Amino acid sequence: MGYSISQDMEKVNSGEGWDNHGRRILEDSCGHTGYDKSEKPENKSTNVIYSGYCENCDISEDSAIPIMNYIYPLELKNFEDSKILKVVKETNCTIIENTETGEWFLTLCGGGMDLSQDIAFAFQILETWIPQDLLGSVCKQANFSLGSKNYKSLARGIIKQIKMEANRHKQNAKEWKESLKNLREKEKAKEE
Ligand SMILES: [Zn+2]
Repeated sequence: MGYSISQDMEKVNSGEGWDNHGRRILEDSCGHTGYDKSEKPENKSTNVIYSGYCENCDISEDSAIPIMNYIYPLELKNFEDSKILKVVKETNCTIIENTETGEWFLTLCGGGMDLSQDIAFAFQILETWIPQDLLGSVCKQANFSLGSKNYKSLARGIIKQIKMEANRHKQNAKEWKESLKNLREKEKAKEE
């Protein structure tokens, strides 16, 4: 896949030079304190910070932790927390930043199956548009790795983008035809 870059995830997960914004925002989103039995309420930490997981939030120790050695460059950065939270809650992706270069990436927190729908949906949530290389290779099967609601949203977005691309190509072809026609006319005029 042309839009992905190979990256050692052990290095990303070590935290050295990398920020996992998805995991951080997921941890911040938990407001439950039931697992921490300390006496003083003001000292209590949230379930996720206390234990690494929260059943109420459906967050486990592995949630939003990248496992595949590929990263997908994002064009934009500094997304709203709500968008990042939606990506980590509704896709098998998280959002990481290379703190040395300031570049942001999507990356997968699941594997063993085609997760192109998850990656494409995450791009839609964050940037509206899906990268060219990915656009033509997203798995079309309904409810394959996304639920029905998100699959429909993904499909509608892809159709819209493909139609715009088609129009762009049509316009491009028209301009080439025009250029070819002008050349022929010029050559014909010389002959006469
Ligand atoms: Zn919670």
